[in-house]
Amino acid sequence: MTSIPGPNSQAALDRKALAVAAGVSATVPIAAVAAGGGVVVDADGNSFIDLGSGIAVTSIGNAHPKVVDAIATQAAQFTHTCFMISPYSAYIEVAEALNRVTPGDHAKKSALFNSGAEAVENAVKIARAYTKKNAVVAFEHAYHGRTNLTMALTAKAMPYKSGFGPFAPDIYRVAGSYPYRDGLSGEEAARRAITQIEKTIGAADLAAVIIEPIQGEGGFVVPADGFLGAIVSWCRDNDVVFIADEVQSGFARTGAMFASEHFGIIPDLITTAKGIAGGMPLAAVTGRAEIMDAAHAGGLGGTYGGNPVACAAALAAIDVYETEGLIERAREIEELVTTRFKAVQAEDPRIGDVRGRGAMMAVEFVDPATNMPDAALASLIAKACISSGVIVLTCGTFGNIIRLLPPLSISPALLVEGLDVIIETLARAPHAAAAK
Ligand SMILES: *Cc1c(COP(=O)(O)O)cnc(C)c1O
Repeated sequence: MTSIPGPNSQAALDRKALAVAAGVSATVPIAAVAAGGGVVVDADGNSFIDLGSGIAVTSIGNAHPKVVDAIATQAAQFTHTCFMISPYSAYIEVAEALNRVTPGDHAKKSALFNSGAEAVENAVKIARAYTKKNAVVAFEHAYHGRTNLTMALTAKAMPYKSGFGPFAPDIYRVAGSYPYRDGLSGEEAARRAITQIEKTIGAADLAAVIIEPIQGEGGFVVPADGFLGAIVSWCRDNDVVFIADEVQSGFARTGAMFASEHFGIIPDLITTAKGIAGGMPLAAVTGRAEIMDAAHAGGLGGTYGGNPVACAAALAAIDVYETEGLIERAREIEELVTTRFKAVQAEDPRIGDVRGRGAMMAVEFVDPATNMPDAALASLIAKACISSGVIVLTCGTFGNIIRLLPPLSISPALLVEGLDVIIETLARAPHAAAAK
């Protein structure tokens, strides 16, 4: 309807600049007024095809009617008691659902929190309480959040860490598996990581290894087959808790309920958030009952953790994942996106890699001459797509990756329209030096 941002959005952005801290930036320069059906509508009446889902959150579709009903019903009953003061059944039912849908049929327990970072913090607390050890291993390109401990676990300096230290101690980073860049088999990459852990940290002091089974902000890196399995068995043999951070990859996003399933691994603890509750803030740690029970009474919790309205939304969302064929939809999205972008890659050497699982797909842009990351091209494409009405996000340690995270419920026609815009934008983007 207008150029982006239109006048009403611009007015809101001007007020944002005056009222909101500058550190809270915005990728899409609009004021959103409505969203649903794979579309976000702004204050000027512009419609955007949503290939971001608010960072993999509204996977079931924005304002899904079942979630909206569940929220309204629960909100009319009560909005808060504090689960640590007066427990209620919605929280318990979410824990039961998580214990049921996460990988493995061993005895499990869950605890609920407000954000992904908070879930990760608590997973580390629980692992330390259980093992009575301190050190934690995270991986290159990892993203685990913005709190102090999770900044320490996160790999990328700008914008996540720069200027915000000192960071939590006893966190160590090792190389993971990035097949496009390291060329290693899963077994080789695991041997490299394990050697680094044994020689430079030592299993005797190591409480936990935390990893995203498919990395999110770091670039949608899918590890080589066998990598995760080897790390899990090493952890078992060394009394180290294996934590899968599935905050971004969980809940049908990758064409399985959890990405761990693609690799046949059963994590000791699994952290979830983002897609869990149809957009309401909720997060969880789920895992082996004996590990989850290691923290003393009162050691876990928080004022809002497992808020009843968020829990009601989660129960509705989990029902939608299980009954509306969204795992299958994610696989169809993978097929469609892969076919389209592999075809473009065959003609355009600036696409170094097309990868991902399900509706968590990435296109990595490189300088064809050197294979070095081309962040300028990724950023140019994302910006141009937004101006053309398609929400496209970038990611990667080097910022040279565009990531596609459409709602799993998006119609194939809308998805194809969005992909067409990206592909046309790439075709128009000037090659090499001209792009920088
Ligand atoms: C987004 C994310 C987090 C942090 O979640 P917040 O809700 O933003 O705190 C942690 N881990 C992964 C893998 C994520 O993608």
